[in-house]
Amino acid sequence: MDERARALKALGLFDRISKLDRETMDSDLSAYTDHMADQGTEAMEREKAALFATKEGRYIYRLEEALRRMYNDPSTFGNCDTCGSPLGYERLDALPHARYCIDCKRKEEDVA
Ligand SMILES: [Zn+2]
Repeated sequence: MDERARALKALGLFDRISKLDRETMDSDLSAYTDHMADQGTEAMEREKAALFATKEGRYIYRLEEALRRMYNDPSTFGNCDTCGSPLGYERLDALPHARYCIDCKRKEEDVA
């Protein structure tokens, strides 16, 4: 029941954030996307590159990646990828796509 409640809360959080991001993305990129729409895969690649060129685009990508992880495996979502301990809502609230707990993140940054 704890896992379920956590996944549901996370889902609400992501719904809110991804809705916000999509509204931003739509207004920024709709003209560009319409223009590119009939130009096939190469255009898709260029569109993706353009999206990645923006900070918002990378953020959205990471959010969507996090969403996919959550849907694929809700029971481990919100746990650190390295040590498996729960990230906690405060960390997920501040950084919804966080994959590592603060301890592991620090260790990783020390190495890098
Ligand atoms: Zn950890």
